[in-house]
Amino acid sequence: MAKIVSIAERLNGNLYYLDEESHIKVNQDIAKKTGTGKLLVRICPANVYSEEQDGTIGVSHAACLECGTCLAVAAPGSLEWHYPKGGCGVHFREG
Ligand code: SF4
Repeated sequence: MAKIVSIAERLNGNLYYLDEESHIKVNQDIAKKTGTGKLLVRICPANVYSEEQDGTIGVSHAACLECGTCLAVAAPGSLEWHYPKGGCGVHFREG
């Protein structure tokens, strides 16, 4: 019988090469007005986004899985996202 492995355990098997410059930028005003900020916090599978005490949205870009989910749900103008520069970002080691 196959061992059940949690998502967190599987994600720990990946390698992340850090791009010092964030490939993700949140427009705080639009994110707040449209509710996109709270949505990003809820939907990102890697917990890249966090709501700070002052209500702004923090971004821990190094953990990004490059899945594109945030782009699919963000209101127009609320999010700038591009792939990390060549060779950086997540390197999947498990299917
Ligand atoms: S691309 Fe995926 S993992 Fe990266 S920030 Fe967006 S939702 Fe999170």
